[in-house]
Amino acid sequence: MDESLHTFTIKTTFAHEDEGTASSSAASVIKIVENVKNTFPGVVTSRQLSRSMKVILEPKGFTLDKTLLVTSFCCDEVCRDLEDELKKNFGQNFNLGGIAGFPFGGNAAFGAMAHHVPTDGHIIICYGPHVGIDFDGVVGKVNRRGHTGSGACCNTAIGALAYVKAVKTGCVVISSPEVNDPTDAQQVFINHILMDEADRLLDAGEEKEMIELPHAIFDAQGKLLKRIMDKCCPSDIREGTKIALLGGIQINSPEGTPEYFLPKKFHLLNSNGEFVEDMTASLVEEGSKDIKQVIKETRLKAQMDAVKQNLVEVPIMEG
Ligand SMILES: [Zn+2]
Repeated sequence: MDESLHTFTIKTTFAHEDEGTASSSAASVIKIVENVKNTFPGVVTSRQLSRSMKVILEPKGFTLDKTLLVTSFCCDEVCRDLEDELKKNFGQNFNLGGIAGFPFGGNAAFGAMAHHVPTDGHIIICYGPHVGIDFDGVVGKVNRRGHTGSGACCNTAIGALAYVKAVKTGCVVISSPEVNDPTDAQQVFINHILMDEADRLLDAGEEKEMIELPHAIFDAQGKLLKRIMDKCCPSDIREGTKIALLGGIQINSPEGTPEYFLPKKFHLLNSNGEFVEDMTASLVEEGSKDIKQVIKETRLKAQMDAVKQNLVEVPIMEG
């Protein structure tokens, strides 16, 4: 039987909604932290990510008044927490993203963004897919506000994975709309592009496919973003503009637990879009610091600076 793409996507994505047994408790919060770190080694909290980017980028000229923050994250409401943390340090964001975090704004949005950059300023581009981990430790699901159990996350990615598996196994005939039909254009594009990653997703097996999925989508997004930047850099970018390019995977956790990000790429580029410096290791190192200690040291330094400013200089009289 023929099935419309939309019916297939919704049916497969939301087949296990509001399941799961665990709820918020001290033990489940600790378990979330352990699960996230074991499943995605190298993660940092969203708060630590934003703070670390500030520490690394501010000395390079990426100050609040001279920076335009650009994001390409999924439409899902659980993806806004990360943007909120980044906005605290770099101001309001220009959004390139559509479903699953693909930069569907394309050349037109990128070109417009380039003209919004403050005079003599710089650009931070952050992109990536997202994946949830629920209170039971299930990857690919998250406990959302107002729900009794957990549900799929990222919906689009999981719908696309189901499409790839259905096509590969030939178990269902799906009627996909034309890609030029805007009502389903983004999902059709993602399904199509994820077919290129089918082997690695099937090889991962059911146990690991939800971990492999965001990595596969990340690679596909990187290729699309490169095409956009190859088209727009340097023609749309003022000479001398620096571009900090951060790519990684957002890990969404249930309400009341920290949001995480796995940095996979943090590069400094010039206005031609050419590689200048790899800052990934510095980001992970800075992001792994004990935040309480960092806050303590920052406050102490601010107090010392204030004391120094108030010191009255007494000239030494000779004679
Ligand atoms: Zn999503």
